[in-house]
Amino acid sequence: MSPLAVANSRSKQQLHLSWPDGREQWLDYALLRKQCPCSQCRAFRLQGSAPLVDARVQVVGLNAQGYGVQLVFSDGHERGIYPWEYLAQLPPHAAGVDG
Ligand SMILES: [Zn+2]
Repeated sequence: MSPLAVANSRSKQQLHLSWPDGREQWLDYALLRKQCPCSQCRAFRLQGSAPLVDARVQVVGLNAQGYGVQLVFSDGHERGIYPWEYLAQLPPHAAGVDG
């Protein structure tokens, strides 16, 4: 399943995905950076240490890859290609909970 639309909302610091089943998903940049699926970041998480992420990290580029999307972050990290299924199972931003 691939989303109908992907939008990069710099004002909200979130990526917005619209899924064919009607679900709207908002994913925080910092969460996406922490959950980067590249081999380097996977190795970090397997060791139990999350990659060091600046809370103000931005998504500065989106490159569609067919089965997913490559995200380019403002800290220079651009190794992660996020398959759509992977994005779909990430926890959506809980609107209104943290302000
Ligand atoms: Zn990574």
